[in-house]
Amino acid sequence: MSTAEYDVIVVGAGNAGLVAALTAREAGARVLVLEAANQEERGGNSRFSGSIFRAVHDGLDSIRPILVDPDENILARVSVAAYTRENYIRDWMNTSQGHPPRDLVETVVDRSFATLEWMRGHGVEWELTANKLFDLDSLDQVYALTPGGAIRVRHEGIGLVASLFAAAEAAGIDIWYDAPAADLITSGATVEGVRVRRPDRFEEVRGTVVLACGGFEANPEMRMRYLGPGWDLVRVRGTRFNMGTMLAKALEAGAQPTGHWGGCHASPQDAAHPPVGDLRLTDKLARYSYPYSLLVNSEGVRFVDEGEDQVFLTYAKTGSAILRQRGAVAYQIFDRKTAHLLEPRYRTGAPIEADTLEELATRLGIPGDTLTATVTAFNKAVASDAELRFDPISLDGLAARPEGQPPKSNWAITLDRAPFVAYPVTCGITFTYGGLKIDTDARVLDVTGQPMPGLYATGEITGDFFHHNYAAGAGLMRGAVFGRIAGANAAGRVGEHGRVRP
Ligand SMILES: Cc1cc2nc3c(=O)[nH]c(=O)nc-3n(C[C@H](O)[C@H](O)[C@H](O)COP(=O)(O)OP(=O)(O)OC[C@H]3O[C@@H](n4cnc5c(N)ncnc54)[C@H](O)[C@@H]3O)c2cc1C
Repeated sequence: MSTAEYDVIVVGAGNAGLVAALTAREAGARVLVLEAANQEERGGNSRFSGSIFRAVHDGLDSIRPILVDPDENILARVSVAAYTRENYIRDWMNTSQGHPPRDLVETVVDRSFATLEWMRGHGVEWELTANKLFDLDSLDQVYALTPGGAIRVRHEGIGLVASLFAAAEAAGIDIWYDAPAADLITSGATVEGVRVRRPDRFEEVRGTVVLACGGFEANPEMRMRYLGPGWDLVRVRGTRFNMGTMLAKALEAGAQPTGHWGGCHASPQDAAHPPVGDLRLTDKLARYSYPYSLLVNSEGVRFVDEGEDQVFLTYAKTGSAILRQRGAVAYQIFDRKTAHLLEPRYRTGAPIEADTLEELATRLGIPGDTLTATVTAFNKAVASDAELRFDPISLDGLAARPEGQPPKSNWAITLDRAPFVAYPVTCGITFTYGGLKIDTDARVLDVTGQPMPGLYATGEITGDFFHHNYAAGAGLMRGAVFGRIAGANAAGRVGEHGRVRP
């Protein structure tokens, strides 16, 4: 077995890992990044992402300095209200039903904007999310961007990882592709390195380890084991390489599991979504305009409050609700009044249209009488002045409470004007919520609550951050903030255990 030695070994080359690697390198460490994927498929879920980063800010003027060559035409057509620390913490704690440890959440929130600035300094190009949820040209009013979801990377996940890899290569960080970490090298509770599975041999690499190799969402066996029946066959939105191998190995080595192991981020996707993510499409099969639709299952029955809140605060749990329906399929139905509001990503879909609900039901292969009854009862519960008050851009409070159906808390207008347009959707898993317990120094804690010397973690592999649901953009932000902490602290151990800083 061959052996190599680095100061810091980062396992996983997504957003969290590359930020950790860059930070450790800046601190003077010799850094190796191990990536399970080949070079063509590198970049993990981060590359598939829409690359929204949820950060505290004081509105458009405060964001402007980090934007790269902003399009003045777009700036004139959007507004962005401040996103305060309090609102960020509120959205996080509400979506996760109060479960996450407050110190971890505050760490992400308080370092969020400074981390965007640091990333800008390493070539990441920020832009506004204008045109994400709406085609700006379809709106005749100023578009108020959701304050927490206003910032993303230019060219989205592709742009994000391209910039981070370029920065890592320029910084002299070694990256091994086709190099899945297979185990930790330990001495008691201390982690001394990793064992890497190469095509023809195992290789040992010694150094302080930062685990940034994602959750277990691509592993059907673990999904079945932890998330339950039905999840083994779910579509995977992102990379095929996040198999949970090192998560399992860390637990075997004594790391503490924490958080919502039975929960995951899963959202509505085009029913034709492939079994795993396709890098040519990245996140373009997402179907997030359902707040303006009636979402029915294959029995023609509604099963969620489509307008419970802003879509960025509900989409991550709506996939699971779809998975629970027969055949794991559902239909978003729009009519002439709402069909123009669909976000641009719907263009990758194949809508089914009809002039009557009966005809639509026949085309969808669902019972026409039930669908008609559902829609009639819903329409009856809609306020008489709904069309006048309907505001697609903000929470309009336009609620309907049809008998025997879930309420629709916002955007409740009748579904009655032909043509009717349906988009078949299924559930796509994004990432898993259960993971390793870390402290605010990104140290992995063992089952007794003690830090495991030599082991840090960041990104999707860590637990405790999200439960039940999720606020869009918090995943990448969490990985980057804790990537910086993990990278700095791992580099800070240089010199311990006989490894000497050059
Ligand atoms: C379609 C899609 C859209 C998304 N949009 C957003 C968004 O807009 N905003 C947001 O905040 N989040 C978004 N997310 C979630 C976000 O992408 C993740 O939370 C984030 O990218 C996780 O980063 P990470 O670095 O922890 O993991 P990843 O980016 O998945 O990186 C993990 C890396 O580890 C590698 N790896 C796995 N096992 C091993 C091993 N044993 N050895 C070596 N390497 C290994 C993988 O190949 C991968 O490159 C989206 C996700 C998807 C799939």
